[in-house]
Amino acid sequence: MNYLSTRARAHTTTLDAALAAGLAPDGGLYVPQRLPHFATGEFDGLDSLPQIASRLLAPFFVNSQLASQLPQICAEALDLPIPIIDLDDTTSVLELFHGPTAAFKDFAARFLAACLARLRHSDAPQSTVLVATSGDTGGAVAAAFHQRPGFRVVILYPDGRVSARQAHQLAAFGDNIVTYKVDGSFDDCQRTVKSVLGDVELARQLNLTSANSISLGRLLPQMAYYAYAAIQWHRRGRTAPTLIVPSGNLGNALAAIVVREMGLPIGHIVLATNANRTLSDYFGGAEYQGRPSIATLANAMDVGDPSNFERLQWWFKDRDLRRSNIQAMTVDDLTIGQQIQAWHARTGMAFCPHTACALAVLSRVPASNRLIVATAHPAKFDDVVEPLIGRGIEVPPALAKLLARPANAQTLANHRDALIAALR
Ligand SMILES: *Cc1c(COP(=O)(O)O)cnc(C)c1O
Repeated sequence: MNYLSTRARAHTTTLDAALAAGLAPDGGLYVPQRLPHFATGEFDGLDSLPQIASRLLAPFFVNSQLASQLPQICAEALDLPIPIIDLDDTTSVLELFHGPTAAFKDFAARFLAACLARLRHSDAPQSTVLVATSGDTGGAVAAAFHQRPGFRVVILYPDGRVSARQAHQLAAFGDNIVTYKVDGSFDDCQRTVKSVLGDVELARQLNLTSANSISLGRLLPQMAYYAYAAIQWHRRGRTAPTLIVPSGNLGNALAAIVVREMGLPIGHIVLATNANRTLSDYFGGAEYQGRPSIATLANAMDVGDPSNFERLQWWFKDRDLRRSNIQAMTVDDLTIGQQIQAWHARTGMAFCPHTACALAVLSRVPASNRLIVATAHPAKFDDVVEPLIGRGIEVPPALAKLLARPANAQTLANHRDALIAALR
């Protein structure tokens, strides 16, 4: 399989080069030249996520140095529980938050780290994985690369715009993980990181790579859990589910859209966003218009100009996209709070503010055969959720361990030159 940049259709590269670079030299995002197609029966006999992942991803690894190691990579990175819990007769929840940092981003970060560690030559100079985070990516990437020889992780997060526990977790690793809090928004952090990574000469000098949701190495493993869920659903004898995905940068939902293109049984796809309405306006028929992000209770989705939109547009024309059984719906903070309370009263379950956006759009889609994606554990957002439900939330053990460590974040000016100086 060859890979292209969304901005230069002629020049192709290998998977290994695309994984190592993160962002294409022309500033575009890497995409596979074509998508393989699967019938559900091709997964017969495969039960676990790692097994399904290695079958699904094999075509993408043809000609990669990693092809023969793909099953081990999937076993090492993706062996995390992904329960599908029934809320009632009409709706189930796909819980993607049982990894070490309690958000779905663990799957992709661990997969990318497992690939990059194997691609690295043992005598190569140290690489720096540069990551801008709206709260959860940074922790997942840090956990995935923590104490891996040959790698340093540099995290930028928007100061004051992540939950207290997210901030603690981001800065609790130490060793080869360096954490900067930036006086700015996530969009600022992302712009800085993109501009530094997009400077080919600088990126080479400093041996930089990316682990943001723009990285191809994150898109691929996220496709695997949607394939897994769709196959489990199918095996229960059910028709393809309506999938509701809390969305910000569009990395997670894009994986679902691509897997559906590849033939896996997924029905309608609904992107649930917070008050940042770029996607809902676009899918409602407006021109795409990136804009500054607004801070909301679902902070990991505070994105005004989703970077994966460029990938989506590379695959589909506007007209086709709008006809493609994808909708985007926006949810305000008041509704997020009400949903957390209402679902707790009804089921006794606590949901994170991002997952609450998905719950909130249930009343706007037909009441059957719905699968909601739960993107983070509510204990990560205790400051929002606990006052709403009037009780404490038990912290998962892996998260508790991180929270017990001291946190050490340094401040960084909201400017590209400040980052370059810090990297040097
Ligand atoms: C990152 C994140 C999202 C948004 O995912 P995208 O891939 O950016 O659309 C939603 N919920 C949580 C908890 C997240 O960490």
